[in-house]
Amino acid sequence: MDELVALSKRRGFIFQSSDIYGGLQGIYDYGPLGVELKNNLKAAWWRAMVYERDDVEGLDAAIITNPKTLRYSGHEATFSDPLVDCRTCKARWRADHLKGDQCPACGSKDLTEPRPFNLMFRTAIGPVDDGSSFAYLRPETAQAIFTNFKNVLDSTSRRPPFGIAQIGKAFRNEITPRNFIFRVREFEQMELEFFVPAGEDEAWHKLWVEERLNWWEAQGVPRDRLELYYVPEADLSHYSKATVDVMYRFPHGLEELEGIANRTDFDLGSHSKNQSELHLAAKVMENVDSNTRLAVQDLETKAWQVPYVIEPSAGVDRGVLAVMNEAYRVEKLENGNERVVMGFKPHLAPIKVAVMPLKRNHEGIVNKALAVKQSLQRLGLGRILFENSGNIGKGYRRHDEVGTPLCVTVDFQTVDEDDTVTVRDRDTMAQERIAVAELPAYVKERLQA
Ligand code: ATP
Repeated sequence: MDELVALSKRRGFIFQSSDIYGGLQGIYDYGPLGVELKNNLKAAWWRAMVYERDDVEGLDAAIITNPKTLRYSGHEATFSDPLVDCRTCKARWRADHLKGDQCPACGSKDLTEPRPFNLMFRTAIGPVDDGSSFAYLRPETAQAIFTNFKNVLDSTSRRPPFGIAQIGKAFRNEITPRNFIFRVREFEQMELEFFVPAGEDEAWHKLWVEERLNWWEAQGVPRDRLELYYVPEADLSHYSKATVDVMYRFPHGLEELEGIANRTDFDLGSHSKNQSELHLAAKVMENVDSNTRLAVQDLETKAWQVPYVIEPSAGVDRGVLAVMNEAYRVEKLENGNERVVMGFKPHLAPIKVAVMPLKRNHEGIVNKALAVKQSLQRLGLGRILFENSGNIGKGYRRHDEVGTPLCVTVDFQTVDEDDTVTVRDRDTMAQERIAVAELPAYVKERLQA
């Protein structure tokens, strides 16, 4: 973990937020390379969930949420962790994270009884801050998918089985944020709510677990590095009938990367009016505020049915950490030196190709390199970097360390002789000469392989 944290700062993946003012605990910023990696991971998820399927629609809903949404969803009452205070040193801990009955900071056994601490952030709405008009920052992106269920249904004519996908920020006032970007207070989620007819939920649940394992594998997190954890009934969230956690061996231990829950008809039922007519399986609070039935009407019998929902919910930040951890390797070279390589899958690499002129002041070479950069940038594969440091060896090392799959060097032979460039492979370090005219097709094929 220390090496990942150091590399993240050194190369510009992830920084402590508000660092110049001493930081803010559990809050991080993504730097020039981090934003590319994170965007690439989110794009890969969106491609798999929305574009490559024919039964999922997208959504991008607001973060600031009407308190009623989070009252009826059950979050006001139950979205809490057990908090204990150390009376000796005043540190606060999550009771279920303590080992034994001692304060991990000072060793004192003088701890308070655990009490529920709600994890939702509140904020005042409008200019009057007297506590009467407040909203929550959403603790999960899911709720806005449920409250928009009818909007999506009516505007797309979908019928279950179908899903709504969303990527966005979520906020939890974690008692003890820790382990770099693993447990933070502001993070991003990639959530799919997949609506299915009651009775088909268990089969779909199994299917989604398989789909998600395959997806992680395609991001460079192999199946044998993941474990499935079937959450025991006593530990299930208030909305869940069954939850399978995808556990990954993070540098600090085996922990949840993604949760795949069977949320039954709880959420749509909770947010619906006239619940007694809906024959809900889930126990929900009586809703006196909703003006809508979040249900589907059977065209023949006219009966209202509330779909069940299967929810694969993955953390973007935990995903970035897992992908970086899998990609990181240190290799011994033949000359006795070491090199650090981030072996990202090409579609996730922050920089796809670095184009480097052999001589930084040679106008012909520099201009040619710029032209090569532009021609590759137009392919739309992601960021192509023009790197004019004049030191090719250093450039290779830097790009190994940030995971750039290909480096292209423009030299005297390019401009004086045959219009070919050297293409150097990150993983094998092999170099070959490719004609500039063939370079775009070559790069495209290499990066999409
Ligand atoms: P944990 O038990 O680790 O607190 P959770 O079970 O509360 O997580 P879920 O409510 O299932 O998490 O949220 C779905 C996903 O959102 C998680 O699998 C995780 O990837 C991500 N996530 C949740 N809380 C955080 C957090 N504080 N920081 C970063 N990612 C988070």
